[in-house]
Amino acid sequence: MQPRAGQRKEDESVRDASEAHGADDAALAAAREAEIAEQRAETRPTLRATVPALEELLYKELPVLDHGFVRVVDYLGDDGAIVQSARVSYGKGTKTVSNDRGLIRYLMRHRHTTPFEMCEIKLHVKLPMFVARQWIRHRTANVNEYSARYSILDHEFYVPASPDLATQSSANRQGRAEALSGAEAEQTLNEITSESDRAYALYTKLLNETAAGDVIDPERLGLARELARMVLPVNYYTQWYWKIDLYNLLHFLSLRADAHAQYEIRAYADVLCDVVAKWVPLVWEAFEDYRMTGANISGPGLEALKEMLDEATLADQEKLDELRKRSGMSPREFRELMATLGRGS
Ligand SMILES: Cc1cc2nc3c(=O)[nH]c(=O)nc-3n(C[C@H](O)[C@H](O)[C@H](O)COP(=O)(O)OP(=O)(O)OC[C@H]3O[C@@H](n4cnc5c(N)ncnc54)[C@H](O)[C@@H]3O)c2cc1C
Repeated sequence: MQPRAGQRKEDESVRDASEAHGADDAALAAAREAEIAEQRAETRPTLRATVPALEELLYKELPVLDHGFVRVVDYLGDDGAIVQSARVSYGKGTKTVSNDRGLIRYLMRHRHTTPFEMCEIKLHVKLPMFVARQWIRHRTANVNEYSARYSILDHEFYVPASPDLATQSSANRQGRAEALSGAEAEQTLNEITSESDRAYALYTKLLNETAAGDVIDPERLGLARELARMVLPVNYYTQWYWKIDLYNLLHFLSLRADAHAQYEIRAYADVLCDVVAKWVPLVWEAFEDYRMTGANISGPGLEALKEMLDEATLADQEKLDELRKRSGMSPREFRELMATLGRGS
């Protein structure tokens, strides 16, 4: 069947928009790289605590998904700042690394949360709007988002890579199951791409303005940016600055770097886990041990667990000592565990 004349024109405008998209992409990437290089070339001496591993990635774009990124644009504090505030001390507040490690682990284990609020991080994030909707539910951050009332949105939208293009899970209503494959996967990807391009072509047509700010048709007035944006689907990228303290960032990660979180927001959370591990390695280690790989056990669950304990092991102090050493727990932590299990004093 021949396409209608109007349809042909529409297809051409989508193709034009797509081609312009490729050229814009390259120009935008080069401009961004130049800005980052300029920022990184300028150094300032400071008396404040800095973390070399974080300085190394400051301002750089850490890529996420197909067009997204996370950039650390500023941070306050380090592992030592937590120790310092916990001890309410002058100066660094640190004693020895093992001492600081023990204190940080104690604070994490016992949910003494306020020292972790003494560290802060400021990020520049580029993310699809549907990911932003999930992310913004975390109310304990300071946010400033790119204004699509004021500026024209980039022609950048998220298309899942084919292994992430999956069917609805029947076991978990909020999840996906096996990946689509073959012709169905290809057609789905093509449809997402062409509909997203088509929406952008309509967006610029309504604006009567290209992304570069050139008027498309001098005979028309065009629609306000705050209205034209409503035709863009939620896979379009937005950007924001996001500032949060370490305590609330860890809470965010415990929810969003978790297997129950949607893959797309998890991809951002995974990058942030690496950032935190570089920034505050002692906190990260404690967080992994007590939150990420640890578990909360209910009262009834704990009772069941106690009954499962092997009496012979519990009576053998040597075996218990060996078990503790193998686990890497401090004697104090091991005593606390035994007390939780109703054993020891
Ligand atoms: C896997 C997953 C699925 C989800 N599904 C849905 C869904 O289907 N529908 C939906 O609407 N949401 C959903 N959410 C969002 C979820 O319900 C929370 O809104 C979101 O995770 C933010 O959590 P939070 O409130 O603990 O975080 P934050 O807003 O960062 O708050 C951190 C902590 O501060 C405290 N706090 C902050 N504000 C207040 C307040 N006003 N009053 C009291 N305490 C406060 C709380 O202790 C809170 O835990 C989902 C989240 C996840 C991780």
